[in-house]
Amino acid sequence: MTVDGKPRRRRKAVTAVEDPALAGLALRPPGLTAVEQEAFRKLVEAIAERRLLPGVRLVEEDLAGIFGVSRERIRRILLVLSQHEVVRLEPNRGAYVARPTYAECRDSFEARLLIERHVVRALAILGPARRRMIISHLRRHSAEEERAIALGDRAAEIRLSGEFHLKMAAFAGNRRLLRTLQDIVSQMALALAAHTRAHDLDCSIGEHVALLDAIEAGEPDQADRLLSHHLAHMEAALLRGIHDGDDSLAAALGAPPAAG
Ligand SMILES: [Zn+2]
Repeated sequence: MTVDGKPRRRRKAVTAVEDPALAGLALRPPGLTAVEQEAFRKLVEAIAERRLLPGVRLVEEDLAGIFGVSRERIRRILLVLSQHEVVRLEPNRGAYVARPTYAECRDSFEARLLIERHVVRALAILGPARRRMIISHLRRHSAEEERAIALGDRAAEIRLSGEFHLKMAAFAGNRRLLRTLQDIVSQMALALAAHTRAHDLDCSIGEHVALLDAIEAGEPDQADRLLSHHLAHMEAALLRGIHDGDDSLAAALGAPPAAG
């Protein structure tokens, strides 16, 4: 038997170790033990994937059973989640998944825009070798997003599109900004789930790819423009959703009337 005629491609060695900058993505709130951190991470993930919806009551006893930890530990986890503003604690009533208001959504968008404009500018002015490495990682991430869409895996699609933004912030290297952005992305997932039913709110993969092109080319102004445009799409969709789906909320908070 002869070997097949195809030329052997020498594959580049794939590094098994993740970039150290991505270590900042791990959710490890100080003050929680390893077991508690694991339950915390799972709850935040369920919120990010919109499996756990705004307004849902978080019963301590149920959570204790699900995670196999004491109610005391659950109380500690819920307290930390409330500090991240994804859970609301009501005296004598219990804990609920937060339901961000229209005003809170506006504040979140403004803060997110400021952070992410800084992030993409910071990435675009890195040295060319570092930029290439980061962009190749993020392109692989985008390919995963595309796969999730092709498979119709909504939960993975939602999680991956949020992670794309968090990874950019992690690569930019400021952990304080990254932590703030993590909270904002979680709150926005809740806002989208609370106030909209539409499916046109999520990140456009095409816009992610264009953004990566601008960063790779070392063009901070262009990256800034594309990012601002990308987030403006999301904000417009959310505000439209609020007007279409929750008039009473918009009216109660003095939002401008919906067009038409
Ligand atoms: Zn996006």
